[in-house]
Amino acid sequence: MLITEIFHSIQGEGTLMGLPMLFIRTNRCNLRCKWCDSTYTFSGGTDITIDELMRTVEASSEKWICLTGGEPLLQRESPELVNRITGSGRSVLLETSGSLPIDPYVHSKSITIDMDVKTPSSGEEKNLHRQNLKLLRKNDYLKFVIADMIDYEYARRFISENEFSCEVVFQPAWGTEMRWIADSVLNDRLDVRILPQLHKLIWGEIRGV
Ligand code: SF4
Repeated sequence: MLITEIFHSIQGEGTLMGLPMLFIRTNRCNLRCKWCDSTYTFSGGTDITIDELMRTVEASSEKWICLTGGEPLLQRESPELVNRITGSGRSVLLETSGSLPIDPYVHSKSITIDMDVKTPSSGEEKNLHRQNLKLLRKNDYLKFVIADMIDYEYARRFISENEFSCEVVFQPAWGTEMRWIADSVLNDRLDVRILPQLHKLIWGEIRGV
């Protein structure tokens, strides 16, 4: 697998926020979000075998392994890696842009999928693989990054017009005030969580955390 970096950190996004995890950041992405904070994954990378990765996983103390990117679903070996990790008794948080099929990852409750629905500010909102929506389970979640009112209205419309059974997270884009999003959610009585990027609040905008 082509890997950008492996590091220990605190999960900073979504419903598992606050948990220590081992992060495996894969290299390459098929999208180009305007506000991407991981552009360093677009090139380079180190080729690592599944056996080598499993040795790192087994040497770690974390119960949770987060597979992130880039776009982890681009890697041919990702299904095998995820199965090997869950087979070792650990849980996997799989972070994906939602642009590629999640079918190979919904067979186990030890896998939680954090799937983006890209909002207009990303410039990639047309690239959602819509068939994924019906595959998401209660333990998964849909994440909308909200940078402005256009994004908020897009997310609000999306959740009212589409059927899915997982939780919804609204994440303010880095630098966006949470207050107006919270006020809007309360005003519109939306059943969503508003969560910041915890790791950036703790460490700022640096790599490897
Ligand atoms: S999907 Fe993620 S890694 Fe890819 S361009 Fe968008 S923000 Fe960056």
